[in-house]
Amino acid sequence: MRKVKSVHIKPGFIRIIKVVGCILCVLLGIFIFYRYQISTLKKIGYSEIASKRILFSRNKEKVLGIGENKTVNAAFESDSFQEKNLDHYAKITYVEQKHLISNINKLLKIGYSNHDINIILKHGNDEAVSQFATREKVSYLEEFFSLDYAKLENYDRYVQYSDETGEDEIETVIAINLDLDKTPYEDATVVSSFSTDMIVNKYHYLKENFAPSDLTTIPTEYASEKGMQCSRLALNAFIQMYKAAEKEGYELVINSAYRSYQDQIDIQNTYLEAYGQSYVDKYVAKPGFSEHQTGLAFDVGSRNSRIFANSKEYTWMLENAYRYGFILRFDERYEDLTGFRSEPWHFRYVGRDIAEYVYQHNNMSLEEYFVIFLDK
Ligand SMILES: [Zn+2]
Repeated sequence: MRKVKSVHIKPGFIRIIKVVGCILCVLLGIFIFYRYQISTLKKIGYSEIASKRILFSRNKEKVLGIGENKTVNAAFESDSFQEKNLDHYAKITYVEQKHLISNINKLLKIGYSNHDINIILKHGNDEAVSQFATREKVSYLEEFFSLDYAKLENYDRYVQYSDETGEDEIETVIAINLDLDKTPYEDATVVSSFSTDMIVNKYHYLKENFAPSDLTTIPTEYASEKGMQCSRLALNAFIQMYKAAEKEGYELVINSAYRSYQDQIDIQNTYLEAYGQSYVDKYVAKPGFSEHQTGLAFDVGSRNSRIFANSKEYTWMLENAYRYGFILRFDERYEDLTGFRSEPWHFRYVGRDIAEYVYQHNNMSLEEYFVIFLDK
């Protein structure tokens, strides 16, 4: 008989295999349970890294109670996370700012409420909020920042201006956002791109080489002189308006349109010779500061009357120009805002939407419209 060779395994080895197997099973179980918890958090909007940190800091139940919350997510992602502020993070509306969480921590430490912090974050960018978080608690947050367009970085100027002038919050915020507390011409901001809603005034200027991107020559039938130029967009709108006026018996004419930087220098010199420096300072825009350089402004005249403000064409324009995208730019009511005296002949093309809005809102100035809607 052949002998069957028996394989002999030592009982100690079997025990080791069993123990290792059990450990592996337990580890696998823990891992599956861990992934399950991560996936529960991810399902309600938390990132992988935030979910891990939530688990390791034993805040899972609390965060599940809070539910989806971008600020809480950002807090757990951030190295600035402070556990004691977790309830606050949950009540602060998320904004995309690099130092959001560290700024929230600082603002809480200064003594601002969650409500205050929401106001602060809404009115400033990362830089402005970071700056604001280094100063002592301010007193008039609600007053100025009830207006959407109030800017955090202007806070001190708002307080100073309203103290000095006694103006209300709206007047104050509009004036300061327009830089009316600064020196006209000197502290101006450069405007470099052409658009129908661009603003040019004593605080927003154009460089010497700026010209509208669609400069075109005005056909002689619409103008008082040959060779005048303007923006094609504005010209098309003017022609429509001209024809509509003509049908009703009104006769418009363009007396001045696009003027280059050099043209404005020449005008300045002409007036200087004729009327002197103080007249020029008061009435003639400095080169770069005239809206005519945009190609979107027209000095409109009547073929029937020498003084446009007394003409029936002027009255017609006041009621109808907005339909074609034009606004009366320098109304006497807001000389303080525009920095220019009233010019009944000077109309500006801004497009139909803005012109209609302005018309429906008591002919507000383009400066006010700019502050409220465009200057973000
Ligand atoms: Zn003009």
